[in-house]
Amino acid sequence: MSEFRMGGVHVPRRSRATGFLEVPGTPARMPFTVVAGAHDGPRVLITGGVHGGEYPGIEAALRLARELEPEKLRGTVAVISPVSLHAFHARQQYLVPDDGRNLNRQFPGKALGTVSERMAWTLMEVATRVDAWIDLHGGDIHEALVPFTIYSDVGDEAVVSASSALARVYGIENLIASASVKGGTYSASSAAGVPCILAEAGQVGRLDEDCVAIHLRGCRNVLRHLGCLEGTPDPVGAVRELRGFEWRFASASGCWYPSVQLGDEVEEGQPVGVVRDYFGRTMQECSAPATGVILFLVTSLAMNEGDPLLAVGVD
Ligand SMILES: [Zn+2]
Repeated sequence: MSEFRMGGVHVPRRSRATGFLEVPGTPARMPFTVVAGAHDGPRVLITGGVHGGEYPGIEAALRLARELEPEKLRGTVAVISPVSLHAFHARQQYLVPDDGRNLNRQFPGKALGTVSERMAWTLMEVATRVDAWIDLHGGDIHEALVPFTIYSDVGDEAVVSASSALARVYGIENLIASASVKGGTYSASSAAGVPCILAEAGQVGRLDEDCVAIHLRGCRNVLRHLGCLEGTPDPVGAVRELRGFEWRFASASGCWYPSVQLGDEVEEGQPVGVVRDYFGRTMQECSAPATGVILFLVTSLAMNEGDPLLAVGVD
């Protein structure tokens, strides 16, 4: 447990290494920092930018990587951000530009798959060598979002329980234990026996400092909770436990006119917006998929068939 390997680099105890994790057989590569503490302890993976337009999570991961000092750390923290470097520079919502796929639907990936499948496979190789994985997200460039943390409630009881503890200590009010999105980081990680949370803070393409601070506090709290950093986690407020996360998708392309606001409490079946064509004709009347709180809402006028419109956190 005295050293960690990343991208062909061996990182001995009490040291720091930076570099790029290459994705075999593709032009993709991921910037990483590994900080190996002075003493043995847990290994933690922190990822930002699985989606390239979710800036506060990306930036929080980068700052954390710079602030961690080997002398003050137990164990090893591996930070990879932005994971989807091509999407980051393309300012691309949701998708990896190389293959047009949503990376957070490709896990655990394939060794010989498309670019995003291979990226997922490469990340999973790292994830299966750590004791916990914190995956930082937020609303994408065209999404408004109320911060929330999500973890998988299926699989091994000890893993679910450890993930739940990480989510609680992260400090975001809205907490979702979910059967999870197929192909997502936290579901694949949990299935592989590695506790994982996906934390969402930030929205609409802004580098918002309050949201960077939410992620930084969350990561530091997790590292204190696991014993990697000295001290106890900062106190956090009461949580709102949500049973799930229900999405509504566009059935037609056109213009999107939501009639609810972010954070609104809605009843199942309540009208929440309309997709119209370019001549004002209604293409889709959208109703709330469940009773609960609007956790994210697409803000762009442009809407594409099959894209998410909004999601409701269900009490
Ligand atoms: Zn995301």
